[in-house]
Amino acid sequence: MNVLLLGSGGREHALAWKMRQSKELNKLFIAPGNAGTAAIGTNIPLGVTDFGSIKKFSLENDIDMLVVGPEDPLVQGIYDYFQKDEDLCHIAVIGPSKRGAQLEGSKDFAKEFMMRHNIPTAQHTTVTLETVEEGNRFLESLQAPYVLKADGLAAGKGVLIINDLNEAKHKLWEMLNGMFGASSRKVVIEEFLSGIECSFFVLTDGKSYKILPEAKDYKRVGEGDTGLNTGGMGAVSPVPFVDEAFRDKVEKRIIIPTIDGLRKESIDYKGFIFFGLINVNGDPYVIEYNVRMGDPETEVVLPRVKSDLLTLFSGVAMETLDKQSLEIDNRFAVTVMIVSGGYPGTYEKGKLIYGLDEVDDSILFHAGTTLTEEGVCTSGGRVIAVTSFGNTLQEALTKSYENVKKISFENMYFRSDIGFDLLRFV
Ligand code: ATP
Repeated sequence: MNVLLLGSGGREHALAWKMRQSKELNKLFIAPGNAGTAAIGTNIPLGVTDFGSIKKFSLENDIDMLVVGPEDPLVQGIYDYFQKDEDLCHIAVIGPSKRGAQLEGSKDFAKEFMMRHNIPTAQHTTVTLETVEEGNRFLESLQAPYVLKADGLAAGKGVLIINDLNEAKHKLWEMLNGMFGASSRKVVIEEFLSGIECSFFVLTDGKSYKILPEAKDYKRVGEGDTGLNTGGMGAVSPVPFVDEAFRDKVEKRIIIPTIDGLRKESIDYKGFIFFGLINVNGDPYVIEYNVRMGDPETEVVLPRVKSDLLTLFSGVAMETLDKQSLEIDNRFAVTVMIVSGGYPGTYEKGKLIYGLDEVDDSILFHAGTTLTEEGVCTSGGRVIAVTSFGNTLQEALTKSYENVKKISFENMYFRSDIGFDLLRFV
């Protein structure tokens, strides 16, 4: 099978790495890819939302399957673009339709979907500039802190959590007046839920589903979860506080109603669903849906999947996923993200990376890297994820941190407390 994978992060390197192991793979192309994907496939300089060029490339290179890493092409309707084109409709697309992608593309759509299907989530209301007074009254009915979310995609920056009521009203006004551009012309106001977060992932063909290993990620840049939000500084899988009882509640109360809801509403969905959850006194609530895998969660989830990923994807495409088995590695996997100093603010690129060849017994997933004549250089904020297995969480952590220390570049930074909060649960 010839596969075109869209994206360029650690998530895509992990997807490419896993597909490379498949007995079904013939050629693998990654658009645009990074230095890591270049070593296991062919990078193609195409933009992930440049549908016209993606079409041309797919036809010229006999692509059989398009695997979509990031959300933007999905929200912009790449699935529908392929389905509706008679030259492209034979190509399987792993990712939901444009309507399905609204679960991530519009927080209001996601909340309404959850309400329709009785899926546990925080109480909410959605307002526009015309209904701002309703929003203020809803805020007055809530306890602090107050959660305000831009309806549309805002690159992970569109959520504000505010302690003071008047400030919350002020920020609501600012958001509705374009603080996050068109994304915040509608704002979802939510009740604050207090608990510990984790993420569940499923692969679905729209009828049946497979539950992949769960993960916990670390979003803040600073130790002890302080400082600015990032794309993610590390991740752990499995999550030690997720026991059988919790997993069972997630499946019965959240996963099954979501898949059934998609089917009942005739929403085409062939791909990953990422459930951002919060555990409130043992009960799971949905914080958000994403319509693709997470980054850096993919870097711990896929290494734990023993089954052939392309066989699973074929099952998704042919709606025969229920006939497939999913084998999971029971060991712990940990990933520590190495980033450019200054990230998520301003940072310099083009730094030569040393020590990559010295790493042993860990898997390196490249994110913001590029291959130059001098060697592998940094080209983004998040640079390399170092993933390790261990029979215990501590063993996996020790291995990743030992290897992180073998890598160096000017102004390199990483968090040294990934997973430490979970050690008390093991
Ligand atoms: P991401 O960066 O994960 O894509 P996002 O912009 O899509 O984020 P959410 O995941 O909905 O937005 O919210 C971001 C973070 O804000 C959550 O991971 C969670 O920590 C916090 N949060 C969101 N909603 C709530 C809530 N109702 N109660 C408590 N915390 C919340």
